[in-house]
Parts: sequence; C-alpha cells; structure tokens
Amino acid sequence: MTDQAPYPIGTPGQPWGDAERAEWRSLQTRQRSYETDVVRVIDSLRSRFDVVEYGRLDYAPDTYALLAIRSREWRDDLPSVLVTGGVHGYETSGVHGALRFVEQHADDYAGRVNLLVAPCISPWAYERIHRWNAHAVDPNRSFRDDSPAEESAALMRLVAPLRDRVRVHIDLHETTDTDETEFRPAKAARDGEDSVPGEIPDGFYLVGDSENPQPAFQQAVIAAVARVTHIAPADRNGQIIGSPVVAPGIINYPVRKLGLCAGVTSARYTTTTEVYPDSPRASSEQCNAAQAAAVCAAIDFALGQ
Ligand SMILES: [Zn+2]
Repeated sequence: MTDQAPYPIGTPGQPWGDAERAEWRSLQTRQRSYETDVVRVIDSLRSRFDVVEYGRLDYAPDTYALLAIRSREWRDDLPSVLVTGGVHGYETSGVHGALRFVEQHADDYAGRVNLLVAPCISPWAYERIHRWNAHAVDPNRSFRDDSPAEESAALMRLVAPLRDRVRVHIDLHETTDTDETEFRPAKAARDGEDSVPGEIPDGFYLVGDSENPQPAFQQAVIAAVARVTHIAPADRNGQIIGSPVVAPGIINYPVRKLGLCAGVTSARYTTTTEVYPDSPRASSEQCNAAQAAAVCAAIDFALGQ
C-alpha cells in the first residue's frame, strides 16, 4: 500500500527490461567529476603511497580507472587493513572519508599495518550521485561469484590474494534522505515490486556481520564516532532500517549472503559505517571526520587484540 505516485519509468508490477534500464540511464546526468574530486587527490598521495589501477570501467563514452592506495612498505608479517568507500557512488562521505583517512591518519599506522584503500569503487555513480552502476545494478548486492557488477568483480580480484590475511575491513557508507525519496522507489520499480515506505534514522550507525558480530569491536567504533557526530537512536520498534538494534547504533546483516562489500574478505573484524549527511546537526566536514574516526577506531581496536 502506498500513496506515492508511480515511479516515472516502467509499468508498476513489472520488472524492468533493457528498454527501461536504457531509459533510466538516459536520465542520469554527470553532476561532479571523479577526475577532479578523487583522481587528483589520489595523485597527490603518490609520493607517500603506491597507487594501483585494479580495473577499468567502460561505460561509453566514459571510462574510469579504478584506483586503490597501498602502503609502500608492504610487509607480509603485518596485519592488513582494507578500507572501501564509494561502493554507492552518491554516498559522498564514504569517498571523501576514505581519502581523508589516508591524507591525515595513514602515517600514524606506518610500520604497524599494511593499508589497502579503495576510496571510490563506483565512479560512474559518484559522478551521477546515484546508487547503481550504469546498468542499474547495485554494486553492494553484487560481491559474489559471477558478479553482475564490474565494480564489485574488480574489487574481488584485487582483494583475492589477501582475502585470508586481512584483519580489519571497514566499508564506508551513508544513509540519506534520498534513499527514501528516490532509491527505494527506484529499486521497487526496477524489480516490479511495491514501494514500502520506511524511516531514515537521524544519526550514525554501523552494520556488523550477523555471522561474526564482534560486539566489542563495533562498540569501540561507535564510541569513537560519538565524539564526532551523534549516533542514531532506535525507532519505536527498537530497530534501525527494519533491523533490531543489538547495541546503541549497531545492527547486523548476513553480509555474505547478501553479497555486501563487507563480506569480501575473511577478516575477523568487519563493519559497514552509515553516516547520515542530511541531519541539520551534521556538516559535510563532520561526516568525513566521522568516517575517518571510524577507520582509526577499527584499526586501533584490532591492533589492541
Ligand atoms: Zn551505501
């Protein structure tokens, strides 16, 4: 049941075919530059870090180099840390928080961990401020064998040799008001389903792995972020986005079953951050700082274990 107008593409109740996907893609416009916002920042880090091109997206007429930043002094005897951002391109602080972590904090961990940071996994969507890739596929349901998203497949290939050696993986996201106004209705229309209204929580929260929840680790990250921005309260059902709150600001998902980025390694400590950028109580600066604080807290906790 919904009183929303039907999504402007497709026929209600019928999943999209190629024509609807093409129509959707024709409506997406480039609103910002991956080259300016991301590649140039990565280039400025080349004197201190190695930069790997781990894939290339070909969405004619545009192509995108997929870039990751690596510790220069990589040592097999050190624990490895994976930081991912921009799996959802519109989630701006995921991208800029990952870059901020490298610029401002990575040196603090030199000689203690190996860092691998992929700050903008879905650059086409970063430019269009969208959740999906150019084929209307959500990369964050696509970290699985025979992935339908090249963004996800490329990261899986990059990480495969390290899969069992990563101790911490933190995947940086946002939950935005446009999830409710645009992306959930778009998904329902694409899949031929009814759009079910939901609530967007006001504040930061984490999604742990229900198969490996690591509550002390999640709580350490929440405690660090609470010093930067406010933590989302549970709703009147004791939930955040439909999942039970297991501790303040923490819900769990079966990340591997869902094909989420957080399941891409066998790391002991994994979490997904969800920053809320539309809060009147949070600036974009605070959102980026919250992402970087979460990464630092995650590494600090893992190194203390
Ligand atoms: Zn996301």
